[in-house]
Amino acid sequence: MCGVVGIIGSSEAAQEAFLGLTTLQHRGQDAAGILTHDSDGFHRVKNLGLVESVFTRENMKTLTGNIAIGHTRYSTVGRGDIMDVQPFLLNYPFGLGMVHNGNIINCEELTHELKVKLHRHLLTHSDTEIILNLFAENLAEFAQKNNKLDFEMICQATDKVFQKISGSYSIVGLVAEQGLWAFRDPHSIRPLILGIRKGKRFGESDNISYMISSESVSLSFLGYEIVRDIRPGEVIFIDEELKVYSKVLDANAPPRPCMFEWVYFASPESIIDGVPVYGARIQLGQNLANIVKKKIESNEIQADMIVPVPETSRIAAIRLSEELKIPYREVLIKNRYIKRTFILDSHEKRQSAVKLKLSPVRSEIEGKNVLLVDDSIVRGTTSKKIIELVRAAGAKKVYFLSTCPPIQHPCFYGIDFPSENELIASHKSLKDIEQELEADAVIYQDLEGLKKAISVFQKGGQNPCTACLDGKYPTDITLGKRFAEQRLKDRKKVE
Ligand code: SF4
Repeated sequence: MCGVVGIIGSSEAAQEAFLGLTTLQHRGQDAAGILTHDSDGFHRVKNLGLVESVFTRENMKTLTGNIAIGHTRYSTVGRGDIMDVQPFLLNYPFGLGMVHNGNIINCEELTHELKVKLHRHLLTHSDTEIILNLFAENLAEFAQKNNKLDFEMICQATDKVFQKISGSYSIVGLVAEQGLWAFRDPHSIRPLILGIRKGKRFGESDNISYMISSESVSLSFLGYEIVRDIRPGEVIFIDEELKVYSKVLDANAPPRPCMFEWVYFASPESIIDGVPVYGARIQLGQNLANIVKKKIESNEIQADMIVPVPETSRIAAIRLSEELKIPYREVLIKNRYIKRTFILDSHEKRQSAVKLKLSPVRSEIEGKNVLLVDDSIVRGTTSKKIIELVRAAGAKKVYFLSTCPPIQHPCFYGIDFPSENELIASHKSLKDIEQELEADAVIYQDLEGLKKAISVFQKGGQNPCTACLDGKYPTDITLGKRFAEQRLKDRKKVE
């Protein structure tokens, strides 16, 4: 999972990309980069680390131009070294830059094809470089026939990319001296949204600028109004005169946005495909409360307090407390000075490090029956340690609630659990999970409750991807096993 932004029409494009990436920092903490273009050519700054540590006052001055793309990285493909840091750049045709959020499953075949048929030697282990090369190859074919780039050429090149790649992809790119372009995969698995700003910003005179971002939180933060989500299978091009072109290339595939965006990943202020993340999390709490209520009524559990595991589960935990009329207590205190977890080499380790640096408030917990609420249970290792922590603080009983149903299948679309073996719920019964976590009970959201929480805000409902819960993948995953093996190998190399 990553965060992407693109800006055109602002004299402070790089500064806005920087602020936009800061609002998307939760989507990836491995690396960050910004690419701009002006009459002096391309300008790029990128490095490993958090957005704030990659960009300095000095290097920001080099990022001139009124067009910028930016990326914040969470490694799910490749080794996560400096070579893999985006944005990527190609000099032909026209001069192209690209950033990507998602995962391509058929990398191996495409790499082979690029190498053998087209004699392209890839410089990185990133799937983004593959997409960029395929796009460039197709665009070059049309560029040879027409000297000037037009939207139809971009559509045709993108369409060919759609036919080749399998997986999830929300892409933003820039074409030197031409404009900004973006596309979203036909199932719209990863989010992408378009915004417009009319008027003053940073003291400049009235003008129009456009921003494309992974999440609406970046748009609202920078004063952009939401135009709309990029549609499934749609390509958008905004030229240097700020004329917007758009076309849906593939309208046949049903939209299947990732449910995990609402459950855990996205910022609570964001609205994804018309569904507010905050509202969905309240609904998750409501639907989970209905399950817990029955267990309380049948005396299976007795609870004195509801305790969120910071941060994501707070919203659902508040709703659970309101509905069950059990006091809400924030008694797992996060050390606000833990800033350097980004030096750990995986998202999982960083999440664990943050959660395991929680300090329990013993005076409140001692002798109580605690309902702990977390967004999900993936491998179970972190959940087990938190339960231990609460027990050590004197809790009488510890029940563990997950706002997400059991995660039983791997994700090939950008969340880093590519292998079934690492998922606690893939091979254990509920009883065994309770034993493994040493919880007095583990209570999961059910699939229906999850789907309702996400679809309640939309006319006609939303049918999100729930493949890691029910094994119903929106794309062909024949090559998923090989993808998983490669990912596990890459992970080992950086550990
Ligand atoms: S498999 Fe799960 S985590 Fe992956 S995209 Fe689908 S819902 Fe999201």
